[in-house]
Amino acid sequence: LVRLRQRLSRSQGGLGRGLLLLLSRDRLDEDTWEEIEDTLITADVGVGPTTELVERLRTRLRVEGSASQAHDVLREELLALVDPEMDRRIAITGEGDLPGVVLVVGVNGAGKTTSVGKLARVLVAEDKTVVLGAADTFRAAATEQLSTWGERVGVHVVTGPEGSDPASVAFDSVRTGMEQGADVVVIDTAGRLQNKAGLMDELGKVKRVVEKQARVTEVLLVLDATTGQNGLVQARVFRDVVDVTGIVLTKLDGSAKGGIVVAVQRELGVPVKLVGVGEGADDLAPFEPHAFVDALLG
Ligand code: GDP
Repeated sequence: LVRLRQRLSRSQGGLGRGLLLLLSRDRLDEDTWEEIEDTLITADVGVGPTTELVERLRTRLRVEGSASQAHDVLREELLALVDPEMDRRIAITGEGDLPGVVLVVGVNGAGKTTSVGKLARVLVAEDKTVVLGAADTFRAAATEQLSTWGERVGVHVVTGPEGSDPASVAFDSVRTGMEQGADVVVIDTAGRLQNKAGLMDELGKVKRVVEKQARVTEVLLVLDATTGQNGLVQARVFRDVVDVTGIVLTKLDGSAKGGIVVAVQRELGVPVKLVGVGEGADDLAPFEPHAFVDALLG
């Protein structure tokens, strides 16, 4: 957790600290409020949430000489913006004895396969039995990559030939999960964003096929936090195609700006559940709003 905090705070470019500095000025004049707005927009918070936050900060810090309260007020308001009440647990409880199924979706390069591997590790550490499905059959390396993760984590990986029907691999994965009495089947899907109709066909089919056997308990959308507003455009497409229940925000250790957490939750109305903070096996962590805001404030 300490490492997570360090990595987060290193990557956030001091969003919270920058705001705090501005809010601690003796006079909060219009220029200062504009600077505060710019800081938030630059940090990917998005226009809507920025306006809202500035409005609330203005109301609460109107009185001159309120610099001493700035830290506490900012902390409270940032926390409210991240919405600490959202349920961030990964749902894996299937019907009766059947495994729950977690579909992992997102565009190529977002960190989907890596996140599936890391998630398997987290679940195994919680004593769950896991089967992985390599349904990203269009990227040859994806199947190989997931198999390597499977060996590393010690879980069975169901694969299919390159170019084979993703839905058929998904089907086989769930069947294997059922046969092995697994708690959960996590399926890596193809991330070709060629066009919305194609994506809808593909993911729709995967979901339909899986639902014939077991309950889809989570659809996790993996987004690369460093892509900023582009990531939001992608998120919208996936939201329209499949019922996303949670977000995995990867590469928060990189040049990502922390505000993207707020923006993407607003955009999709679903919580960020996991964050990727590195390429290593242990670099996936539950998203914890309090720790996150503390990291922002430095
Ligand atoms: P996919 O195409 O979405 O399946 O993406 P991959 O899982 O292959 O990941 C793409 C690249 O991003 C790989 O080099 C990963 O090691 C890297 N990656 C994934 N998650 C993270 C993360 O949280 N932090 C960093 N720094 N790199 C990541």
